[in-house]
Amino acid sequence: MHMGKKVRYTFDPVSIQYVEVKSSWRKICGRYLAKLVVAAFFSYATYPLWIQLEEINIQHETKAAYRHIALQYKELTQLEKKLNKVHNNDQNFYRSILNQKRIEKSIWEGGTGGTVNNTMPSIPLLAKVKGLIQKLDHKFKVQQESFAAIQKIAQEKSQELKHIPAIIPVFGRIVSGFGYRNDPFFGYGHFHAGIDIVAQVGTPVKASADGIIKTAGIPEVGYGLQIEVDHGYGYVTKYAHLSALNVRVGQKVKRGDIIGYTGNSGYSTGPHLHYEVIKNGIKVNPYDYFYSEY
Ligand SMILES: [Zn+2]
Repeated sequence: MHMGKKVRYTFDPVSIQYVEVKSSWRKICGRYLAKLVVAAFFSYATYPLWIQLEEINIQHETKAAYRHIALQYKELTQLEKKLNKVHNNDQNFYRSILNQKRIEKSIWEGGTGGTVNNTMPSIPLLAKVKGLIQKLDHKFKVQQESFAAIQKIAQEKSQELKHIPAIIPVFGRIVSGFGYRNDPFFGYGHFHAGIDIVAQVGTPVKASADGIIKTAGIPEVGYGLQIEVDHGYGYVTKYAHLSALNVRVGQKVKRGDIIGYTGNSGYSTGPHLHYEVIKNGIKVNPYDYFYSEY
């Protein structure tokens, strides 16, 4: 028997006898304690752990995002390199052959690179990306403007090229060149302002470039039946000693159009074409203008 301690008994139907009731308050307390421990574990231990896991996850995502942005930054720098190549090609080739001034480096680079303004992200890498995007945008605009200007100049040039005398106007042998010669009509030391091409009477004479018929007839003694074509850009060509005309004054002609036929009119010793190229009012050597035969 335990002294000073109240002992309680209960009937056990299995053993068919009374047995001592063992301290039930301990069991109750124990059960509550266990629950308390579990609750404490879940409320104080697992909650911060969950947050921790979340934080670890966020850190991983942030790192991945950073790596991704860094990669994009690298790709953007590659894009800038490609754009710089296009720009250099423009500078050294297109702008050069069309006699255009080079675009200055300060204009090309612009003032946006690395500038931190209010709209800039606070994260340094993102600020760098945004700065580079602004720089690329600027460079694209500069290049676009350059190409637009170059294209306009090239179109004007190609228009001009069509108006510069470039073909031998008649099929035949060149018998007399440009310069001083012993002239059958004017004697020794006469300046021959054109070239003479021998061709049978009636051989087609072609316009050596695009232009407008300036004269078509016999406006001056010596040249006989003649045609003058005004090509613009300071160029005029003259075709003399013709037998027939195929055009009238004011008519537009293209390079290669048949404007008349060779003959022996005016001061001429035999069937030939006298051909002149006049640049800004000065008679020049037509030989320098034969870029293609027909
Ligand atoms: Zn001549």
